[in-house]
Amino acid sequence: MRYTITAALPYANGPVHIGHLAGVYIPADIYARYLRLKGQDVLYICGSDEHGVPITIKAQKEGVTPQDIVDRYHTIIKGAFAEFGISFDIYSRTSSETHRETSSAFFKKLYDQKNFIEKVSEQFYDSKAEQFLADRYITGTCPKCNADNAYGDQCEVCGSSLNATELINPRSAVTGNKPELKKTKHWYLPLDQYEDFLKEWILEGHKEWKPNVYGQCKSWIDAGLQPRAVSRDLDWGVPVPVEGAEGKVLYVWFDAPIGYISATKELTPDWEKYWKDKDTKLVHFIGKDNIVFHCIIFPAMLKAEGSYILPENVPANEFMNLEGNKISTSKNWAVWLHEYLKDFENQQDVLRYALTANAPETKDNDFTWKDFQDRNNNELLAILGNFVNRAVVLTHKYYGGKVPEPNVSEFSDFDKEIIDALPNLKKSIEKHIEGYHFREALKDAMQIARLGNKYLAETEPWKLVKTDADRVKNIMYIALQITANLSQAFEPFLPFTAQKIRQLINLETMDWELIGKTDILSVGHQLNPAELLFSKIEDEQVQAQVDKLQAAKAENEKANFQATPQKESIAFDDFLKMDIRVGTILEAEKVAKTKKLLKILVDTGIDQRTVVSGIAEHYKPEDIVGKQVSILVNLEPRKMRGIESQGMILMAEDSDGTLRFVRPEEVVNNGAEIR
Ligand SMILES: [Zn+2]
Repeated sequence: MRYTITAALPYANGPVHIGHLAGVYIPADIYARYLRLKGQDVLYICGSDEHGVPITIKAQKEGVTPQDIVDRYHTIIKGAFAEFGISFDIYSRTSSETHRETSSAFFKKLYDQKNFIEKVSEQFYDSKAEQFLADRYITGTCPKCNADNAYGDQCEVCGSSLNATELINPRSAVTGNKPELKKTKHWYLPLDQYEDFLKEWILEGHKEWKPNVYGQCKSWIDAGLQPRAVSRDLDWGVPVPVEGAEGKVLYVWFDAPIGYISATKELTPDWEKYWKDKDTKLVHFIGKDNIVFHCIIFPAMLKAEGSYILPENVPANEFMNLEGNKISTSKNWAVWLHEYLKDFENQQDVLRYALTANAPETKDNDFTWKDFQDRNNNELLAILGNFVNRAVVLTHKYYGGKVPEPNVSEFSDFDKEIIDALPNLKKSIEKHIEGYHFREALKDAMQIARLGNKYLAETEPWKLVKTDADRVKNIMYIALQITANLSQAFEPFLPFTAQKIRQLINLETMDWELIGKTDILSVGHQLNPAELLFSKIEDEQVQAQVDKLQAAKAENEKANFQATPQKESIAFDDFLKMDIRVGTILEAEKVAKTKKLLKILVDTGIDQRTVVSGIAEHYKPEDIVGKQVSILVNLEPRKMRGIESQGMILMAEDSDGTLRFVRPEEVVNNGAEIR
């Protein structure tokens, strides 16, 4: 069987994070490695998506060219994937010449076949910047949820996909000006004409697709499909290859999926059989936000073109959250791969393991550093690492590192039980990988290590070695064969670890069909010296990561701080009604059984009075005695926790919620009026 496996093209306007890895690249990598190990003809294709408006906006903001932006992130992304052992056969990019030609020719063929409709419509135009405002070049209030800063194509708050003209109070992201409407011509793919095809192909023909994917497709199709513009007024992208289309490029979502085809072309002159031969199985790995593009739009494009195969499956994952919050690039709430690699050197497999064991296959899941630590210490180290280490160390101790000769007729029932479990686990891993259930498949692989661990723990060769040397030979022979099983079974999931195990047992062969066998290592075969597979991850290491996240978030909030809108105007007389004075704090203590409240005695110049203030999380009582503050003295007294508060101390609230006193620059008399 021949397989073309694609992983969603990461967008080259930022580095990649664990959410990308968990949702797309690791599952696709497991699938590709598994099929290769089974001897299948596999291409695993990916590359950077380098067109589209977010890139040109970022370039304008930084005063560099779009090419500078994509060069920077393409390099970072490609490097991080390589270091994580993501085994792409090619990692290309959509700014390549091959892609320009391929996507251009694709468009031209559809144009010549009259698959598009041409339509002149009114779109937003910024006359100061002299440009049309496509997609993210326009922001405004979301008509669905009233959130500010919705984009011309989407509201990130409520997730609605929008048309720019629906936005309330639209603004140009370039100049901030109110845009005008101007006529422009574009080409549309009439998706409504593909409804019958999509109904039959997906709703009837692919009921086996994951429920989240099938369900989303169904709701799109049931809602009725609309013609979709496949061009934009922009100067960054693949130019529309027809006359009269100056200043227009292909819509990024038209050219990006063609990137899979271009990358395959770059890889091999034999590319057509991976895209056009009906014996090829095409599988798209994506995140749930890309379902409509890979299940509706791209298939409609392929169908219109006429010579391509359609995807066999699109196993989209849900999202991976981080420490209870949605991963967000703009809020810097993420674990970036290139940073992880620095903080956890040579521990790629730990992250691969934690992300797969907790993969968001059927619902959004949460990555926590505590879970990451537990997975390493309690599973990888305590089970897999411990077992392999014992098997290799004891073999060196008892037999000079050579596989001992067993006496098969003396195998016990327990031995046979262990041996018999292996082929069943192999079948179970296969079933789960082929059904895109990678979490379950990993559990099965881990079950082999658990079995080995249990086997040694119960047979205790280190006790028997003085009394029953023959029995120990059988035990160690079986333990080493289990180790050899692990060196193959973990190859799709933890490639670095599988490679290390093969190195330890001096086995070069990589073959899925070895799993389940108990004669992989022959009698007398020499092992290499023992080495540990995993090291303990300490509390301080994970705490440092949590601290780093919080710090990044706070810094980001500060940088992105936006003042709240101004309140309604008030009359001068209303202002004069407030009597604000400078006072000095004389005493301060925490209000018992509360987290936030301080009871403060203030000399206001008028009197000494008690004020209850919600600042206990921001100031220690002993640190504020003697400080001058501003106090609203004619606020009606009110009781808080049984204490009468006579006034209010004025505070400034920072973007992260920190409260700070508002006080005179130099010491003034208590009772001085503030106005
Ligand atoms: Zn909204």
